[in-house]
Amino acid sequence: MSQDGRTQTVLVVEDEESIASFIAMYLRKGGFGVSVAGSGEEALAKAATERPSLIVLDLGLPDLDGIDVCRRIRQGSDVPVLMLTARDDDVDKIIGLEVGADDYLTKPFNPRELVARVKSILRRTAPSRRRLETQAIAHGDLLVDAGRREARVRGEEVQLAPKEFDLLWELLDHRGLVLTRDQLLERVWGYTFAGDTRTVDVHVRQVRRKLGEACPIVTVWGVGYKVSSEPKPAPA
Ligand code: CA
Repeated sequence: MSQDGRTQTVLVVEDEESIASFIAMYLRKGGFGVSVAGSGEEALAKAATERPSLIVLDLGLPDLDGIDVCRRIRQGSDVPVLMLTARDDDVDKIIGLEVGADDYLTKPFNPRELVARVKSILRRTAPSRRRLETQAIAHGDLLVDAGRREARVRGEEVQLAPKEFDLLWELLDHRGLVLTRDQLLERVWGYTFAGDTRTVDVHVRQVRRKLGEACPIVTVWGVGYKVSSEPKPAPA
């Protein structure tokens, strides 16, 4: 149930029926409404018409690549996406900027883990996006507006994937403090993802690439990341 008491619906995109129905069964047991799409085209159609709360998206689909599906969904929506991947897929690419998935699970996975991830992603995204409605933070050339979910460098909008935005905001909102990778995982992704700090590093790398010189994130060796309390002065 969401905070307003309605059942939340998860769109499961997976062409292998046995896996799709297995996932659907566990999600229903977890209290979610479930819709299933067996192809990329069907997924895009259902994402647009059914407006699910979250999408579980398999990377291997018969018609479109899961990456293309995710990218196309992202063009019009910031619905959370949990990607299902094979062991040898390029995770950096999946959770990185171009694709914009919120999280991923490697097959084979424990279905209870999947339900736990879905719940934590939803817990993490919905209330925080509401809570931040009117806040904006300026830092040097960077202006980040949490309500509009916009990042601007010298007035120019920079497109960030949802988790990149959340990560940047979390650090800006705690200016002057060092946050460890584990803390960032917990606060931005909403669960303790023991050991896999790559997720944080990949997102930081993408934010840096996109914001360039205006990126305020500093690496604190052996600890984590921070944003300084004061922006560094512009070169004269
Ligand atoms: Ca598949």
